[in-house]
Amino acid sequence: MSFYLLCTPCGRTANDMTCIKRYGARALQSAYHVSTFRDGICSCCGEQTRVTEARDFFYPDERALKLLRQYVTKGK
Ligand SMILES: [Zn+2]
Repeated sequence: MSFYLLCTPCGRTANDMTCIKRYGARALQSAYHVSTFRDGICSCCGEQTRVTEARDFFYPDERALKLLRQYVTKGK
């Protein structure tokens, strides 16, 4: 799987989308409590912000990330 860095809103949303697709329900846990945030560019929305590894959002589905990216960037 590709290496993703995600900001909190994108990571949580992608995690929810992944869980809805897989289990038909929103994520029970939105993110790990201990995440190693650092400054960087979110792989999803492209914002320069505090990001962490996709692992911290339970490895969201790659297709969910691509779909979310289309929404947040409006296809840019
Ligand atoms: Zn983002």
